[in-house]
Amino acid sequence: MSDVPESHPRYQSLKLRDDITAGVESGITSIHGLIAHGRGEAFDYLIGEATQQFAAQAIHTSAAMLLLAEYPVVSVNGNAAALVPDELIALGKLLKAPLEVNLFHTSKGREETIQEYLLNRGAVQVLIPSSDIRLSFIDSNRKYVHTDGIFRADVVFVPLEDGDRCEALRKMGKDVISVDLNPMSRTASRSSATIVDNVVRALPLLIREIRELADASPLTLQRIVSKYSNEKVLETALQWIRRA
Ligand code: ATP
Ligand code: MG
Repeated sequence: MSDVPESHPRYQSLKLRDDITAGVESGITSIHGLIAHGRGEAFDYLIGEATQQFAAQAIHTSAAMLLLAEYPVVSVNGNAAALVPDELIALGKLLKAPLEVNLFHTSKGREETIQEYLLNRGAVQVLIPSSDIRLSFIDSNRKYVHTDGIFRADVVFVPLEDGDRCEALRKMGKDVISVDLNPMSRTASRSSATIVDNVVRALPLLIREIRELADASPLTLQRIVSKYSNEKVLETALQWIRRA
């Protein structure tokens, strides 16, 4: 960021705006992504711009779910690619999971731009949806998926998902882990685990947690998952927002 000093009280928030606008300029992020980011900012302000206990709990469970998964897939949209490309790549490597580009405002050009961007930064496998494989239960552009990606996955990690698609994935029997600053969104309420935190804070913590749990037994991991209630976590997040 050229003209804002690191000492500026809103430095971090302004830096993220820069990353998102740079994403739009390089063709990675959709212009609609700016609006989604703005809504996220408002919730982040209410949450205190820090990872709260309810998010830490969801991160712990998500790590266990991802380690138990037979075929996890990491979904990537334009905002996530602009904000946390290296963390998404690291997550894919750690889980030996493919990344799959999945956009709400679809365009082949943007899918390919993101695919190339991630591969250039060191991603091992980046899939883009094919036009003949569709998710059931969904009409929006995001119904198209890749056979070796989301279509086959048992657990899908989707930072910044849309509610419709989250619901469709659940109906197909998949577990969905989302990161969403809004605990009231349809995505938040329909996910198996919702990390109510900024994706830029959540991803490094999730990666650390996966490393820490990597040697845990399946039984230990299953216990973590079965003790978890996403409903309770969302309720706690809402109470936290209403605290003021
Ligand atoms: P839904 O479709 O789930 O009901 P929505 O339509 O209200 O949600 P969208 O516009 O689809 O919302 O997506 C934007 C969502 O992403 C918002 O809930 C916003 O809080 C969240 N969001 C935006 N930026 C971030 C971020 N950096 N980290 C985490 N969440 C974010
Ligand atoms: Mg939506």
